[in-house]
Amino acid sequence: MRSLLFSVSVLTLAATAALAEQPLPQPAPPSPAIPAARDVPYPGTLKLSVDATDLARRIFDIRQTIPVAKPGKFTFYYPQWVPGGHSPRNDIDKMAGLVVTAGGKRLAWTRDPVEVFAFHVDVPVGATELNLSYQFLSPVEVRVGRQVMTPDMLNLQWLQMGFYPAGYFTRQIPIEASVKLPEGFQFATALETARTEGQTTTFKVVPFETLVDSPMFAGRYFKSVDLDPEGPARVRLNMVADRPEQLEFKPEHIQAHKEIVQQAYKLYGSRHYDHYDFLVALSDQLGGIGLEHHRSSENNVGPKYFQDWDKGFVGRELLPHEFTHSWNGKFRRGADLWTPTLNTPMRDSLMWVYEGQTQYWGNVLSARSNLLTKQQSLDSLAMTAATFDNRRGRDWRSVADTTNDPIIANRKPLSWLSYQRSEDYYSEGLLVWLDADTLIREKTGGKKSLDDFAKAFFGVDDGSWMPRTYVFEDVVKTLNDVVPYDWSGFLKTRIEGLSERAPLDGLTRGGYKLVYTDTPTDYFKTSETRGKSVNHAYSLGLTIGAAGLLTGVQWDGPAFKAGLTQGQTIVAVNGEAYDADKLKEDIKAAARPEAPLVELLIKDGDRYRMVKIDWRGGLRYPRLERIAGTPARLDDILAARK
Ligand SMILES: [Zn+2]
Repeated sequence: MRSLLFSVSVLTLAATAALAEQPLPQPAPPSPAIPAARDVPYPGTLKLSVDATDLARRIFDIRQTIPVAKPGKFTFYYPQWVPGGHSPRNDIDKMAGLVVTAGGKRLAWTRDPVEVFAFHVDVPVGATELNLSYQFLSPVEVRVGRQVMTPDMLNLQWLQMGFYPAGYFTRQIPIEASVKLPEGFQFATALETARTEGQTTTFKVVPFETLVDSPMFAGRYFKSVDLDPEGPARVRLNMVADRPEQLEFKPEHIQAHKEIVQQAYKLYGSRHYDHYDFLVALSDQLGGIGLEHHRSSENNVGPKYFQDWDKGFVGRELLPHEFTHSWNGKFRRGADLWTPTLNTPMRDSLMWVYEGQTQYWGNVLSARSNLLTKQQSLDSLAMTAATFDNRRGRDWRSVADTTNDPIIANRKPLSWLSYQRSEDYYSEGLLVWLDADTLIREKTGGKKSLDDFAKAFFGVDDGSWMPRTYVFEDVVKTLNDVVPYDWSGFLKTRIEGLSERAPLDGLTRGGYKLVYTDTPTDYFKTSETRGKSVNHAYSLGLTIGAAGLLTGVQWDGPAFKAGLTQGQTIVAVNGEAYDADKLKEDIKAAARPEAPLVELLIKDGDRYRMVKIDWRGGLRYPRLERIAGTPARLDDILAARK
């Protein structure tokens, strides 16, 4: 080893000597300066007009006018950071055809080579505005990206449609937007209409910040329901669907949605909008979405949301989750997440509050509003608890570190999810907040709860939607105001620390424990059906998709130890062609010590091999079991507030 190292260093020195005569590489000169954003009004109102009628080719055709005050260098941005996505992933690759003119003359533009979302032009003497024309080429197939136009509906996100000038806070840039929709389309958005001419609607002038936070759903089949006719602010459930019959609902469906609003008001004691619009697609044509905004949210609940109401309960937490974000995330926002422009990097360090507590309240409000039964909520919680208790990545990666995931991983598929971890601050955050809630309830003899935290933290400034930022110490202080405790230590241990097991004390203090039985809960079964998968994560340590394809292998589990990975295919089980039910029978049979182990014929690319899985534990599915003689605090948490 030593002599090898020696010879390498001699070589390196010789190479350096030979190159000494040549000039060494030097850094490239800096790219043109982009003016820093200032909190002063932009001189003039931008205009943005979108023609959204080309459903056949899925092209948005766009014109934009940007007033300019003086000649010379001028920089404008395409938004880069996605609010609610917490990542720099806006679709600049789909913007095409950019032509800039001033006074009828075409101007050359250059893209900044470092800040590739920034564009530079030279404004000629005498010009008062820049005229931009371009297209947003929305994906024509799923491979290219999320579908935002279908023959019957569209999801217009202004974030993808418009540029804005560099040098100003986005709240200081006024803009008037208009859209031409296909004939026969109706729409919903949090924007307020100024005027309508034919198929074109022009909206009242708003700051650029508000425009990008106010997307639109529009469609041929459209219904809108007022969820709070007597309330302090209009809250509408606006729905578009692939087919008209998918918009037929029963009174009890709407009643549950009305209850989301009422239960949220009881929880937070406030609202942070003058009106709120749920934008809801019932579609398997439009791309999936759940995205929060201050006065609206974008949601795709699937085509049979109402038609399959009784068995379609998995994932029904979506609307309460996105609604909660109006309070948690949009109104109260981590101080390092709030940015003055959409091209200033966001920092996601407090996502375990932003998404973690939203995940918690989204699930709790689903039960309190009767979107889910108590049992469905408990079963859902059991799945969350089992997922994180069996996630080996917890050995090396804290929940706090996963808050970087929107930036570093951007929801790309992973080879080893249970080891790499993902945006675990969502659902492990939920477990931490359940832990906190039950602890408050225990310490105060049931007089206080996390509801009191929610009211104190999110309920301030009723009626205001000016974001209020916070830091870690503010969270700790508010918890201490509810009940004094070492909340800083409590949170740091769970969020920043490593631990082999998930934080499940909230279940125990809630009166339940996580157990595994050989029978799946309804919720578990339904999520298998919905995901078109067979989930043996807690027995063999694998999940299976269509035709025996392995869709996940648990790090360190029995399948892992047998050398399996996702992407391989189970061709046969114990000598017979793969069949999901047969595999279950064989897992059960292998629980007897004298019986043969489950043997799989695995296809890995063009290779085949036989694999025995060393597992004698039978089928294992998570569920919650009541701990007799203890207070059922979890039941209290899930019960509707009077
Ligand atoms: Zn969320």
